[in-house]
Amino acid sequence: MNWRVYLLIIPALLTVAVGFSLAANDATVTLECTAVPTAPQCPSGTSGGLLISPTDTRKDRTTKRTLSFEDVDSSFKEVMVFRRDRAPAFKQVTWTTAETLAFNSGHEELPLRIWAICTDEQGTCPALTATQQKTLGEKMVAHANSILTRERTGIKLVPPADGTLISDESGTPALTVHKTVTSCEVFKQKAVGANKFAAGALNIYIVNKVEVNGKSETSNACSNFMDAAVVGAKASSYLILHEIGHMLALDHVNETASDWGSDPKENFMKDSSVTRKFFTEGQIFRMHLDKTSAINVLFNRHPGDQRWCESSPVLPCPELHERVWEEP
Ligand SMILES: [Zn+2]
Repeated sequence: MNWRVYLLIIPALLTVAVGFSLAANDATVTLECTAVPTAPQCPSGTSGGLLISPTDTRKDRTTKRTLSFEDVDSSFKEVMVFRRDRAPAFKQVTWTTAETLAFNSGHEELPLRIWAICTDEQGTCPALTATQQKTLGEKMVAHANSILTRERTGIKLVPPADGTLISDESGTPALTVHKTVTSCEVFKQKAVGANKFAAGALNIYIVNKVEVNGKSETSNACSNFMDAAVVGAKASSYLILHEIGHMLALDHVNETASDWGSDPKENFMKDSSVTRKFFTEGQIFRMHLDKTSAINVLFNRHPGDQRWCESSPVLPCPELHERVWEEP
């Protein structure tokens, strides 16, 4: 056989191979949004999905109804799809029939209570006017919610059942005496003792300073990883989102860009940063389904689907750094 024949055969073989692999191993998932009952189209906007096996991930994005994943086999058993206008939808897939995935309407609402104990940098702990209370609480939550939406976490912070978003505790000596906090867990016990803790909600305490690594700063914060976080007087909503991330099962991201495949420096879970701006879809998956997330421990939202992301062989999780969208 001469070279010319080889050259003709190779592209022909490649064409067959590519055609076969796409035709044989593509998988599609049809999306349905309940907001439009007559025709279950999702409203405008992009949907992005992660299809996962115990060892691998496929991704696709669409502005229409169908997500297509390439090179899929039966080990890909679960799909989670993210949008800005509602909580992520997820299901275990078998591929025995056409797979559809229905979103619930709206976001996953998490009750939050803010306790203003000492909100000035000097540590004089002034009383707040009604307007200041409203501004502090509502602005902080509105900003946090706009980022949670932008990042497609599907989570919305809401006032607790009694409707009180923020409580001014500047006149509660049992708390102001602890305006410099060295341990979140110890502080929470004091707050519970003073009856200043909302059970069944995420509690954020604004104090003067928080000690981290031996340094007390107004820009520090700590969390008990479940239902309480304590933040210094200068804490931004970005730092508050970091602490909420801890309450929703997320640990610090200490890896480098080469470990991660994307730069973790701007991730919300970076231990120390002033440029935090994104959550990965791998993190959002854990917020909703990890057994240690407040969504499951505190609110029990996914009893049949929660899992240990670091050790479950039955129900898989994507890698922590997996992203469907690179841009924040
Ligand atoms: Zn942290």
